[in-house]
Amino acid sequence: MSGKRALVIGGSVGGLFAAGLLLKAGWNATVFERSLEDLAGRGAGIGTRPDLFAVMRRIGIAPDPTAGVSVKSRLCLDRNGAIVAERAVPAVNSAWDRVYRPLKDALPAACYRAGMPLVGLEQDGDGVAARFADGSRERGDILIGADGVSSTVRQIVLPALEPSYAGYVAWRGVAEEKDLTPDICAGLLERFTFCLPPEELFLCLPMPGRDAAGERRFNWVWFRLVDFARELPLLCTDEDGRCHGTSIPPPLLRRAVIEEFRAHAAAVLAPQLARVVAETRQPFLQPIYDLACPRVAFERVALLGDAAFVARPHVGTGVTKAAGDAECLVDALLSAPSIDAALAAYDRARTAVGQALVARSRELGAYLKAGAAAPDPAAVLREYGAAGSLAEEVFGPTLRASSRPGA
Ligand SMILES: Cc1cc2nc3c(=O)[nH]c(=O)nc-3n(C[C@H](O)[C@H](O)[C@H](O)COP(=O)(O)OP(=O)(O)OC[C@H]3O[C@@H](n4cnc5c(N)ncnc54)[C@H](O)[C@@H]3O)c2cc1C
Repeated sequence: MSGKRALVIGGSVGGLFAAGLLLKAGWNATVFERSLEDLAGRGAGIGTRPDLFAVMRRIGIAPDPTAGVSVKSRLCLDRNGAIVAERAVPAVNSAWDRVYRPLKDALPAACYRAGMPLVGLEQDGDGVAARFADGSRERGDILIGADGVSSTVRQIVLPALEPSYAGYVAWRGVAEEKDLTPDICAGLLERFTFCLPPEELFLCLPMPGRDAAGERRFNWVWFRLVDFARELPLLCTDEDGRCHGTSIPPPLLRRAVIEEFRAHAAAVLAPQLARVVAETRQPFLQPIYDLACPRVAFERVALLGDAAFVARPHVGTGVTKAAGDAECLVDALLSAPSIDAALAAYDRARTAVGQALVARSRELGAYLKAGAAAPDPAAVLREYGAAGSLAEEVFGPTLRASSRPGA
């Protein structure tokens, strides 16, 4: 089944994995991305699994040892900076930009169209027609919705389904190794560090630099309870009093919000972690959502990555799942007797994986709720994974294996 055309909506990691694999499989694939800007500045650190790099190799991206930073253990610090629990858990962290950049560079420029928001689609028995904001139309044999948690494609095929707010946000940021003292760096390198203030969870991971020559960075994620209706709009209101809804571009965060946030870090976090927060130039805010679709294939339309399922970040699998979705879809298109049979196989394989990830991530985030008892640090580290990455513990080798249609 080659020589067919796929319209890929969304030019982030999910869309790039799909387009890269489809081109290798002899399909034509065009990515339509809403944003005009390069997306590399968007992400922060990511936990990885070997599957992620395997899919990149399949696209033809050579392994880059500088794109990963090894950690040996997970440890938990108390308010005074003392270690209260530790567990040996080897893992490799990477950075969103170190996955996105090679994927984007591997895609021929003619296959990527920026500034092209999808606004509508129509299906018939033979394919799909996509409509874009500039009034243009494109036709393909399939359309892949890789357009993230607020997916326009999903809103068309599943109009009643909305992401649900988890009750907390992730404050996130990246501090440069060169901005921290050598003793702080020495204590945080090679470790995945936790801190557990009441009703909060703070994580800090070393991550690679922006490129092969770059110095390492420290990625942190701080989960804090925020009321959706009352507090979130206030956090998302800029200095001019304009509310941006439930998210806000990081440069528009109010000075008072960042000051409160840094003062709170100094009050409740281990001192070395508060220092990492203080040395972060541009913190940003992400409300945490759950999303679980009942199906991921709709005639000639397939949903992939965060458009299909969003597991809370506790399982650290979003990028690997997007890669696995893309690989499963392309394998199905290569092996099934028809496009319709391929999409049915994709639907069976990936709906189950996505639902299981969402359920596990809800369990892990459950103690982040008002009035919850202080968690036992050793239990948190155990829950977060006794061996290898979290997803590996939850799914073993099946995350990728089950991406094979019929597996
Ligand atoms: C706090 C936090 C921590 C995380 N940590 C990890 C981690 O450790 N490991 C990990 O693997 N994952 C992690 N993730 C998840 C990961 O970032 C996402 O799963 C991943 O980026 C999803 O990729 P995607 O391509 O499906 O969607 P997105 O990256 O959301 O991209 C969707 C794209 O579609 C475009 N788009 C939207 N609408 C349209 C339209 N109508 N037309 C055209 N284009 C459109 C958008 O502009 C965007 O570029 C984390 C997420 C959070 C919030």
